[in-house]
Amino acid sequence: MALSSSISSSLCKLSSQNALSPDSNSNKIFNSRCGPFSSLHQFPICKMGYVCQWGRRKSSYTPLISASVMDVSLDKSMEKVQLPKGDNWSVHKFGGTCVGTSERIKNVAEIIVKDDSERKLVVVSAMSKMTDMMYDLIYKAQSRDDSYISAVDAVLEKHRLTALDLLDGDDLASFLSRLHHDINEIKEMLRAIYIAGHASELFSDIIVGHGELWSAQMLSSVVRKKGIDCKWMDTRDVLIVNPTSANQVDPDFVESEMRLEKWFFQNPSKTIVATGFIASTPQNIPTTLKRDGSDFSAAIMGALFRARQVTIWTDVDGVYSADPRKVTEAVILNQLSYQEAWEMSYFGANVLHPRTIIPVMQYGIPIVIRNIFNLSAPGTMICRPSVDENEGNQRLESPVKGFATIDNVALINVEGTGMAGVPGTASAIFSAVKDVGANVIMISQASSEHSVCFAVPEKEVEAVAEALQSRFRQALDAGRLSQVAVVPNCSILATVGQRMASTPGVSASLFSALAKANINIRAIAQGCSEYNITVVVKREDCIRALKAVHSRFYLSRTTIAMGIIGPGLIGGTLLDQLRDQAAVLKEDFNIDLRVMGITGSRTMLLSDSGIDLSRWRELIKEKGEVGDMHKFVNHVHGNHFIPNTALVDCTADSNVASHYHEWLRKGIHVITPNKKANSGPLDQYLKLRALQRQSYTHYFYEATVGAGLPIISTLRGLLETGDKILRIEGIFSGTLSYIFNNFKGTRRFSEVVMEAKQAGYTEPDPRDDLSGTDVARKVIILARESGLKLELADTPVQSLVPEPLRATASADEFMQQLPQYDIDLAKQLQDAEDAGEVLRYVGVVDVVNKKGLVELRRYKNDHPFAQLSGSDNIIAFTTARYKNQPLIVRGPGAGAQVTAGGIFSDVLRLASYLGAPS
Ligand code: ADP
Ligand code: ASP
Ligand code: MG
Repeated sequence: MALSSSISSSLCKLSSQNALSPDSNSNKIFNSRCGPFSSLHQFPICKMGYVCQWGRRKSSYTPLISASVMDVSLDKSMEKVQLPKGDNWSVHKFGGTCVGTSERIKNVAEIIVKDDSERKLVVVSAMSKMTDMMYDLIYKAQSRDDSYISAVDAVLEKHRLTALDLLDGDDLASFLSRLHHDINEIKEMLRAIYIAGHASELFSDIIVGHGELWSAQMLSSVVRKKGIDCKWMDTRDVLIVNPTSANQVDPDFVESEMRLEKWFFQNPSKTIVATGFIASTPQNIPTTLKRDGSDFSAAIMGALFRARQVTIWTDVDGVYSADPRKVTEAVILNQLSYQEAWEMSYFGANVLHPRTIIPVMQYGIPIVIRNIFNLSAPGTMICRPSVDENEGNQRLESPVKGFATIDNVALINVEGTGMAGVPGTASAIFSAVKDVGANVIMISQASSEHSVCFAVPEKEVEAVAEALQSRFRQALDAGRLSQVAVVPNCSILATVGQRMASTPGVSASLFSALAKANINIRAIAQGCSEYNITVVVKREDCIRALKAVHSRFYLSRTTIAMGIIGPGLIGGTLLDQLRDQAAVLKEDFNIDLRVMGITGSRTMLLSDSGIDLSRWRELIKEKGEVGDMHKFVNHVHGNHFIPNTALVDCTADSNVASHYHEWLRKGIHVITPNKKANSGPLDQYLKLRALQRQSYTHYFYEATVGAGLPIISTLRGLLETGDKILRIEGIFSGTLSYIFNNFKGTRRFSEVVMEAKQAGYTEPDPRDDLSGTDVARKVIILARESGLKLELADTPVQSLVPEPLRATASADEFMQQLPQYDIDLAKQLQDAEDAGEVLRYVGVVDVVNKKGLVELRRYKNDHPFAQLSGSDNIIAFTTARYKNQPLIVRGPGAGAQVTAGGIFSDVLRLASYLGAPS
């Protein structure tokens, strides 16, 4: 800082001695062998003076000291040549990618020639990546990294080769001579930086601005080669700006207009190619409009010429509803108001430099953003909103135009009861922030005046926090302020739209979309203009937040990224059902279910855009990789273009179930037929349910009881509508239902079990069914759902596996020995039949006495439980409302198709919770 201000003061002194004659013009200067700074070389000055050679911008104008004398002579001559202004001018700006190669430069020249406007001014950026390369040179030199020399040579080579492709004859010779001269000067400057180990802003600005100087010269020569009279303009001769504190500059329109008139008088032309990005201070010191500033240059030029239109050519079809690199579903916006464009660019849509709007807005000059690589796209028009936009068709449009994000932001929260009602606190806070030169991006204050919270760029937060600590030392010590807290690693997400102001419910939709994506909002601000609602979120949540809100306003579809765990019988059937139904869901119900991963215990298959379900079995074989649950979950959830993630656990594994809590916490919805979590340890179950209730993350497990039958949802419906559950009793096992429905008359129990096994109704080891544990788990699930705090061990279970056979080694041995025990059950059956009753293996939740049990019971022949056939389940709810006549749900309660169907309907329930139409 000290260095550059001392340079400027020495420069002011020098400037009066080095004034150029009024008739010199920048063309001459650049065509001369000595270059723009050469007139100062004659001064044998000290090191600082040497620095000044580059620091002082040689101008075609007499400096301020003699300005009045100059103006008189100029004014006289200018009476003859007036600067033509107005609609006959069109301004174009070509970004770095547009002029990235010689071919592209030729293409740009073609576009310029084809524009049939009477007068054209073309603002051009440096070739793509060039400004980054130049900044890198400076960085290397000041870090004393010798490779800066080869890096300069790369810059030279890139331009030399481009020029060789584009130019010939004198044009080529003069450009190359100019280029070599500039490169030598740059090398000298870098050497000075290398020695000092420091680069002043002035040095940096001079060096980096060369990219634009070279591209403008090459482009103007190419246009001239096409037979068009074209001048090139070094905008440092015209554009005068005043640096402001916040790494910004303010154009001096009056001075710039004067200089433009003068320049035009010396270079009258109907086609001008001007450098973007660079300018001078009123003292003629070179400066820049800061990163991406060429858009701003074009807008200033447009305003100075009162042009008909400013066209900004870039590499995308226009302004998208969100950064297309982050949201693939982003859509092109046909039209934006100046305010909307300003808000979008301020909040990070780098398709436009934020300050571009201001100069053109006051003259109502439209800006059109167009894609140089797709001339058929009409682009985005930024202008005053039309009447149409305000009334007619706008009802059909979303009130939100677009979204933009800024990363690398930190929040500062100044908190304390002593702030309430004390005038001047905010002013003290922000003056401390101003003193360290930090840029406040947004502010939010709670109405209690208890805290002021604001966002600054992360790199500035430390200095700001220190300044606040020291400014409020006393208040902190006295306890009037409780803290100055820094929340690092944040991002800002801005929602922009002029019509948001007149549309109620926009913020509600916005916040509910964020809540559904499980995104925590750290701070909120809405300007009085209501053109934008800004929220601060954790940086890691930012892209997900962006996608969630974007899809809420722009996608009619509810899209869910799914991960299927356990592609066995049930999981596989679910995948097949999804395959068969996907198209209908998409077209008729706007639900887009994409399976991003399938994992078994050993192998998993991952996809970035969704697995082709018509071939999932083959794909697992062809492209499966080693299963890794952590990687699997990160893949399915880390996919940023789909805001919602659901994991479907089709296993019966308690290890998989132990992850649910962690997944729900991450905002992943969980759907499962696996009973292990809900019938496992009570404390873990309670934690899971508490989390489910607190968050907007969903946990559905309808298929844990009765497969596809609506058991859990019926119970929920009763409870939520205020009914009181007294008792739930039912046949919950399809296997045991089958066995007892067929165990009658003279049939032997073991024979029926064998038949069930052969028909595939039992587990491979039928003891898993006969032990009753599976039924007990269902009883526990329903008991807990009814509000009882029971453990599995609290539920007495009558096992049908005879005691001596429980330890028998294999399933086959068990089956062989089972007939020895038929006698006991045969007797029970006989007794029941004699009494006009049947045997049924049931689970009971006795809510009144707060217990559960599983046992073999007898029911009268006319009882609904006695009427069952096949492997049906039947569940009776006795409640305060259904007291005399229980509410009965009956139907097939086992089998892959119905279980998968139950899971599928949970998936659809999730989609409707997430906003799919009903
Ligand atoms: P140029 O060099 O032409 O000035 P920029 O890189 O500065 O180009 O700006 C164009 C880029 O801005 C696009 O390639 C795109 O990736 C990015 N961008 C960010 N947000 C948006 C948005 N909302 N709409 C369009 N482009 C955007
Ligand atoms: N070349 C400059 C930059 O990259 C200015 C611009 O292209 O807009 O920042
Ligand atoms: Mg740009």
